Amino acid sequence: MRNITFHIISYGCQMNVYDSRIIASILSENGYKETADENKADIVIMNTCSVREHAEQRAIGRIGDLQKFREKKPNFLIGVVGCMAQNLGNSIKGADFVVGPSGYRKLPEIIESIFKTKNSSSKKSNAYTLTSNTSLELYSDIFPEPVPAQVRMPASTLHPTAFVSVMRGCNNFCSYCIVPYVRGRARSRPSSDILKEIELLANKGVKEITLLGQSVNEYSYNGINFSQLLMLTDEMLKQVQHDSVPWIKFTTSHPKDMSQELIDAIRDGEKICEWIHLPIQSGSNEVLKKMGRGYTKEKYLDWIYKIRKSIPNIAITTDILVGFHGESDKNFQETLEVIKEVRFDFAYMFKYSERPRTKAYTMKPIVPEKIRIERLEKLINIQNEISYEKSSELIGTTQEVLVLGKSKKGNSLYGKTRQNKTIVFDSSSKITLPLQGDFVEVKIKELRGWTPYGKLLSKKIEPQRTQRKTS
Ligand code: SF4
Repeated sequence: MRNITFHIISYGCQMNVYDSRIIASILSENGYKETADENKADIVIMNTCSVREHAEQRAIGRIGDLQKFREKKPNFLIGVVGCMAQNLGNSIKGADFVVGPSGYRKLPEIIESIFKTKNSSSKKSNAYTLTSNTSLELYSDIFPEPVPAQVRMPASTLHPTAFVSVMRGCNNFCSYCIVPYVRGRARSRPSSDILKEIELLANKGVKEITLLGQSVNEYSYNGINFSQLLMLTDEMLKQVQHDSVPWIKFTTSHPKDMSQELIDAIRDGEKICEWIHLPIQSGSNEVLKKMGRGYTKEKYLDWIYKIRKSIPNIAITTDILVGFHGESDKNFQETLEVIKEVRFDFAYMFKYSERPRTKAYTMKPIVPEKIRIERLEKLINIQNEISYEKSSELIGTTQEVLVLGKSKKGNSLYGKTRQNKTIVFDSSSKITLPLQGDFVEVKIKELRGWTPYGKLLSKKIEPQRTQRKTS
């Protein structure tokens, strides 16, 4: 048994978090041991993001920092995987291997061959680079693991929440986005594989499953669409041992692929939670058109109306991009108006970052950086106020919370609600401390920052189910 340890650092989206678990299981099965402590690792793997230039710069900076370990550990390896690996390939300096999203299954082989070369030669060699052919026709990688990898990990190492990838890549080619170039075209995974993975996770005690895709509601496999997949998941989970996995969530939905069928599935599926992440990106039709998003502001607002009409207690979150090429003051004002009108529970807000290879890269006119920053600040101020008001509405209510662990500060615990809101709470000495994975009831007392904070009322309640069945 070898005694080589590895540590994975994940940047970017949930898909990377999911892929990092797949990489961990592939390496574990080949005798490598995962460590949570970067200082103790023989191999540090960075799972990177290319969506914004800043994300790449951060990862490059980190590769520089990691070089310090080489002095103490002559066999220390640095690996770069994920979107930046695919995007920048062997131009990444300071790494021993650079592997794109299609090459994860080969990682044990690659690492083995690098160790052999290192032991047989003191000469510094170039990084081993494995990225897929960037021609999209040839980008036909299958899922790194058609048979679920994370479920082969011991139950004790599994978190109470798990991501399950239902599709990869994206066909939308939004003009600002690099994802279709680094992750390839959309490929949906067979529903039987997805259900199998979820069933195995359920039997290992996972309490919440989040179905993942860059544009998850674009899912389509052998005539099964995403709404049907959600309902199949809901039905299947009612049959498995102990009727486990009480909560099903999903992300990210594309507004152009919204449907009444999906709204009905959220409303009717007993285990499907009341949360949808629906990126609006801009409130200006002119900008949306340049972004190639495939919907108008009016259409987006119509979906919000329909969603809230069917599921009044749903939480809606979004992504917003400001300072896109050609965004005028008037266009930006339109975004602010829409934000005030929708009143999102939460928004991820960014300023536009030029990505070479995307359609928008050469678009004009460019919004000066100073204006991008000003607009972002203005947007953040307005949305933060709305998020604060939304969170304040929880004060005095009792929330059902899935306990996820200890909070960063003090002895408090934290967890998530069905609406995917983070709640921090303290226990009382009268109630035994709940454990990660327990469902509890928390009375919300106040906000600390933006986070609802409360007191534990009871533990191990029967997790809530949707009660809004159609007649
Ligand atoms: S939908 Fe658009 S923004 Fe989202 S991953 Fe696909 S191309 Fe990128």
